[in-house]
Amino acid sequence: MGANKTLLILPGDGIGPEVMHEVRRVNDWLRRKRAVNFDIFEDLVGGAAIDARGTPIAPETVARAKEVDAVLFGSVGGPKWDKLGFDMRPEIAILTLRRELGLFANLRPAVVFDPLVEASTLKPEVVRGLDLMIVRESTGGIYFGKPRGVETLPNGEKRGFNTETYATHEIERVARVAFELARTRQKRVCSVEKANVMESGLLWRETVSALHEREFADVELSHMYADNCAMQLVRNPRQFDVIVTTNLFGDLLSDLASMLTGSLGMLPSATLGGLDAKGRRHALYEPIHGSAPDIAGKGIANPLAQVLSFAMMLRYSFAMEEEAKLIESACTHVLASGLRTADIMARNCAKVSTQVMGEAVVRELDKLGG
Ligand code: NAD
Repeated sequence: MGANKTLLILPGDGIGPEVMHEVRRVNDWLRRKRAVNFDIFEDLVGGAAIDARGTPIAPETVARAKEVDAVLFGSVGGPKWDKLGFDMRPEIAILTLRRELGLFANLRPAVVFDPLVEASTLKPEVVRGLDLMIVRESTGGIYFGKPRGVETLPNGEKRGFNTETYATHEIERVARVAFELARTRQKRVCSVEKANVMESGLLWRETVSALHEREFADVELSHMYADNCAMQLVRNPRQFDVIVTTNLFGDLLSDLASMLTGSLGMLPSATLGGLDAKGRRHALYEPIHGSAPDIAGKGIANPLAQVLSFAMMLRYSFAMEEEAKLIESACTHVLASGLRTADIMARNCAKVSTQVMGEAVVRELDKLGG
């Protein structure tokens, strides 16, 4: 591999390849105008890999994902593969990558773009200017804890059980990601659990506090119970900067927070892992949305979530803050100019295709930073 930064692109199924095409347009612009050169590898995942190779993700693809500096993922799945056994489903591709790359911190920003403030179900005065980040622990907690199962009791009744477990190191590493992120933002972290009723929550709180005292005293730390956090996110979401929480609570709260922005086609995400032997952090970037089989092939998908995932990658994997901001500003300007894909269409706006949206982003990039 050369000296260039390396990137693995996995477009996947459905609208994945369509929206990824627009990322390539943005990447071409960076190469031409900013001399940003990635060595790009591309591969099949999900249903496309099942059709071509009989597996949702080939071992060589996983090996490549471990070698590169970052992975940009599209989306996988679709009705064609719905009847396959669990081990053969397209979604196994993303689960395998998360496991093999040890991706334990899921970052989901909830940002309200001013031109889309009316798209939220909350009042504009509550969500205008919203910019919060949820850091969800994503490889531990109750979804993975043991013992788990369903047993039959002596009286014949059934009993289902799962276990919430967190070891100190699992809490520390995700909290560290949150504190480091906060340092690049408003320097505020809110740690969320239910220490009032769960021992694992109490350990979570104590561990986050101890790490804060030891290494991150310059960041403001607060604690909140998860039920209150859900309420506060709807009541006054702008009070938060970075929220760090467990797998289960993060699952619920990040979905809630993403809907504050009102549109699935606009939401990027990142999943980060530990540092490898070369000191690089494994990382995968993908939009929140799936493969949208209902609109695949029609050329009408919103490419902005994928483009914004690319911007997140520039920021977190390559420390290219200026370029990331430029792309985000270009997206805001395109929206302010009244262009909309069908999913975010509003009164007095012009409905455009995936391609026209991507071209418009590049035109704005030319104006802003050409
Ligand atoms: P989805 O996110 O694909 O679609 C939900 C709705 O939102 C659909 O009406 C769709 O048309 C719309 N939508 C989504 N993204 C859009 C975009 N960029 N522009 C315009 N409209 C958009 O969720 P789903 O329908 O529940 O799932 C479809 C498939 O995707 C399933 O096979 C599911 O397993 C898979 N999925 C994959 C991922 C992933 O790859 N990480 C995530 C979620 C779902």
